[in-house]
Amino acid sequence: MVHALRSTRVRTPSGFIAATVLVDQERIAAILPWDEAPADAHLHDFADDLLLPGLVDSHVHINEPGRTEWEGFHTATRAAAAGGVTTLVDMPLNCVPETIDVPALDAKRSAAQGQAWVDWAAWGGVVRGNAQALPALAKSGVPGFKCFLIHSGIDRFAWVDESALRLALEKLRGTSLPVLAHAELSGPVDDATQSLNAERADWRKYATYLASRPDAAETDAIGLLIRLAEEFNSHIHIVHLASAQALPMLAAARARGLQVTVETCVQYLWFAAEEIPDGATEYKCAPPIRHVANREALWAALERGLIDMVTTDHSPCPPAMKRREEGKWDLAWGGIASLGLALPVLNTAMARRGIQLERISDWMAAAPAQLAGLSGRKGAIAPGADADFAVFNPDVEWTVTPADMHFRHKLSPYLGAKLRGRVRETWLRGEPVFSGGKFTGAARGREQVRP
Ligand SMILES: [Zn+2]
Repeated sequence: MVHALRSTRVRTPSGFIAATVLVDQERIAAILPWDEAPADAHLHDFADDLLLPGLVDSHVHINEPGRTEWEGFHTATRAAAAGGVTTLVDMPLNCVPETIDVPALDAKRSAAQGQAWVDWAAWGGVVRGNAQALPALAKSGVPGFKCFLIHSGIDRFAWVDESALRLALEKLRGTSLPVLAHAELSGPVDDATQSLNAERADWRKYATYLASRPDAAETDAIGLLIRLAEEFNSHIHIVHLASAQALPMLAAARARGLQVTVETCVQYLWFAAEEIPDGATEYKCAPPIRHVANREALWAALERGLIDMVTTDHSPCPPAMKRREEGKWDLAWGGIASLGLALPVLNTAMARRGIQLERISDWMAAAPAQLAGLSGRKGAIAPGADADFAVFNPDVEWTVTPADMHFRHKLSPYLGAKLRGRVRETWLRGEPVFSGGKFTGAARGREQVRP
């Protein structure tokens, strides 16, 4: 069946144009003038709604196999589909076994069978002691590797110090795969925590949690990572940058031509420390959400292209682990649930700042697709690419309720948020998977192995 998708605002690589996108089977066959839909094609007219490429979220914790009661392929991929996200790249730590060798990757592949509503891929993990396993894992199709420079929250996913990271980078030399790093060092965090405890700080206060993860933890880690990127000629990707203080060193590294890419997350662009209530542990994530001035500096870096992309770092847990009744930030599990809400949240924030909507698909589709080695297939509306789309009305206003969250546990700081813009329809490889508030068809998601 040939489909013709028509809109007055199709996001092509050259910007928004009125066009008809011709879809043959699973791929985009052509981009035609708006009024030239072939007579024998099935026409879908989206009027003035935006036709965006299906979004790619390269930072998601799916948790399956092993912790499916936290989140799983079925729930995570439905949340994605409802939010216009057609490709998820899973982080290697919250599943059991952790994705740190080929048998673990195989276990994930089995777990995903028949469960995924959107396409997915899996980052491999670099942990202390698995350097030997990395070449085989690279060969089996992971798009890159994730490591932590501080305790990850998961004991079995052992964080790496500089010498362990050096071993891994040595093993991965020549693969051209990116190494993604959680960039916080434990030294500044441990020191800050000790002084806070010595002065009997109140751990129900958000200010205490924020003070326990100072900017220096990020800037020190990023300094180290830049040094290693240069020495090993490696592609290092900084996940979830929260501290604007690291921006000058990142700008300098990029100016020297180093392969250092940068992501921030929706929560750092939307919330600010000033407005987070004490005890509201649904806002806990690491690095922490910082102050308003920091947030605005992140926006400026995004606008000028120093920050390449925006992901969610969707990382939920069973609500009890957030220990909301006690509200103690040191005891609560860290991770914010947001999958499926990122597009309207960013759209709302951009409208307030007068930022061109076109940028959304650079930040949330093209750049993360490139990071995951999926350029040409994902992240753009162009001939030959997968026919993945998000149909988005950017103007409708609404308020987030639990019914709008399709992930497993409905505890999220976005509950009650007043947003602008709504996903009308999501297409995965030539067919709708979400339309008019309902899931359609079947779980057709496939793993996207790096070519
Ligand atoms: Zn994460």
